Amino acid sequence: MANKGKLLILPGDGIGPEVMREVRRVIDWMAKKRGITFEVEEALVGGASIDAYGKPVTDETMDIALAADAVLLGAVGGPKWDDLPFEVKPERGLLRLRKDLGLFANLRPAMCFDALVDASTLKPEIVRGLDIMIVRELTGGVYFGTPRGIETLPDGSRRGVNTQVYTTEEIRRVARVAFDIATKRNNKVTSSEKANVMESGILWREEVTFVHDKEFPGVELSHMYADNCAMQLVRNPKQFDVIVTDNLFGDLLSDAAAMLTGSLGMLPSASLGAADANGKRKAMYEPVHGSAPDIAGKDLANPIATLLSFAMALRYSFDLGAEADLLEKAVENVLGGGLRTGDIMQPGMAKVSTGVMGESIVRALDKLAA
Ligand code: NAD
Repeated sequence: MANKGKLLILPGDGIGPEVMREVRRVIDWMAKKRGITFEVEEALVGGASIDAYGKPVTDETMDIALAADAVLLGAVGGPKWDDLPFEVKPERGLLRLRKDLGLFANLRPAMCFDALVDASTLKPEIVRGLDIMIVRELTGGVYFGTPRGIETLPDGSRRGVNTQVYTTEEIRRVARVAFDIATKRNNKVTSSEKANVMESGILWREEVTFVHDKEFPGVELSHMYADNCAMQLVRNPKQFDVIVTDNLFGDLLSDAAAMLTGSLGMLPSASLGAADANGKRKAMYEPVHGSAPDIAGKDLANPIATLLSFAMALRYSFDLGAEADLLEKAVENVLGGGLRTGDIMQPGMAKVSTGVMGESIVRALDKLAA
């Protein structure tokens, strides 16, 4: 047995525990069939942690997260905790994890499985075979810049202020992540900003170009204004490989790209921190969807977004690219075979539960590995 490192599982609230059970099935399969094991720990986060300990994440859990090679999170939140003050809401647990792990690069793939081509609002020929990665800067820019606030002016009217601010290092480190990922994909990066109207955009363009010329000259780099990038994403998304952009534009572009592929239940994500001396990055993987309280506990949730998040952990934290490919292929085969959870149900397909979807993916892994 080859132990590949430490994995912290944080199922969280709502459908989190249900979808995470399906990841456990895959972890068991890997141990039995591939001889690959992880040191797995599990802890509470979000509302579940508030109920047990009065805090959305405890210091003990943070210590385990800081020592882990990867954290896999389900989802947090739900109506039970909606009325709590902001400082102790379930989402604060997520924010603390992101902040204390220093996660500054958010990776949002948008992949269209052939079997789900019709779920997109765009024409099949536009999205078939789509596979792009948006790398969004996560800890800087206008969401955090100061000065910020709302002030009352002498004439009684009010002024709202937010500040878009980026430093050399903040731009260079996220650019490095994007170039590095591109070298493992199709070797193409599009950097997106508004250098035509924003000084921070000019700096962004210059620093991304600097990192490119100095460290990644073999990667094809182009620059695109963010408004054009939004248009190109719906006009011809397959022209892109990796898009790197700031916090605000990344927020918008990644959601737009996500919807090219159809369903929230299919979308994984990763957030990465700085590389240590061995090139290892702190990392947290989570589905894009929330805790879906409307279907929680009913065995209806689609586990694929979380399984694909685990595939990203295999690829980016555990150096198990072949196993990640295998898991993605198993998902594709099960969808190709006509199985669907309710959220991606289409006429003529077979509607299955969370558990049956997970079991079927494990059976597909068996077939692929045979
Ligand atoms: P949501 O993503 O939880 O659900 C939106 C809709 O999509 C719901 O109808 C839900 O049933 C459906 N859906 C989501 N994931 C699905 C899946 N895997 N399979 C099948 N259907 C799925 O968003 P929301 O309803 O706006 O938020 C619900 C709760 O989740 C709130 O408390 C919110 O704060 C929280 N939330 C958490 C995160 C996170 O943990 N990262 C993200 C978004 C929302």
